Amino acid sequence: MRTLNSIELLRVWEDGLNLTLTERSLQLLSLACGVPDLNQVADWSIGERDARLLQLREWMFGSRLLNKANCPKCGELLEWTTELEDIRLQVPQRQTSPQTFELVVEGTHISFRLPNSHDVFRASSDPAYSVNPQKLLAECITGANKGVEEIAVDELPESAWDALEQQMEKLDPQADIQMALTCPACTHEWAANFDIAGYLWTEIDNWAKHVMQEVYLLARSFHWSEQDILKMSPRRRQLYIEMIS
Ligand SMILES: [Zn+2]
Repeated sequence: MRTLNSIELLRVWEDGLNLTLTERSLQLLSLACGVPDLNQVADWSIGERDARLLQLREWMFGSRLLNKANCPKCGELLEWTTELEDIRLQVPQRQTSPQTFELVVEGTHISFRLPNSHDVFRASSDPAYSVNPQKLLAECITGANKGVEEIAVDELPESAWDALEQQMEKLDPQADIQMALTCPACTHEWAANFDIAGYLWTEIDNWAKHVMQEVYLLARSFHWSEQDILKMSPRRRQLYIEMIS
């Protein structure tokens, strides 16, 4: 895995403008991880995907995260910083082929895989998943049996679903990052979800617009090509811009 240079990042940003957030993340990781097959990247668990996005973010924009959220009770705007290290719950694995796990609940053996980007993509475009949250979990079950008898997914005991969800969270902790917040205005306490995919894309979007502005200013004054300007370090671009003004 490696970071992306300005030319690559600007190309991924431009290509990603008409894509969903999941597709944008896959494009970024495909390039950064040297895996051209997007289907293969989409096979990675969400925790694995997010651990890699977090690593990419650290290389591209540093380790301090600036967060914002509105209090759900009184609307107060909260702003705070987080160190990336505090929310890093798993490190990217070397081996990324899809894995199957086992769980035993009330004598029933369940084989399952972890949710991945294919699941997120399906779930975000089909309302059936929000009506029935068990649907996504059910699709991750690859087999269930009690002794020699095979058990259909809809015959699993209620306790199996809770156990399965807990086990998935334990195996793939980076997939669900919650931040405990307290509103300074009304003392309301809640847990805010941190989504690295959305966070990183917003930063890339801001970065791209800033860089294009720099290219415009430098090309207009010095008649350098876009490629040549993008190959410069951010520091050098900034120094030339200061000379113009
Ligand atoms: Zn509040």
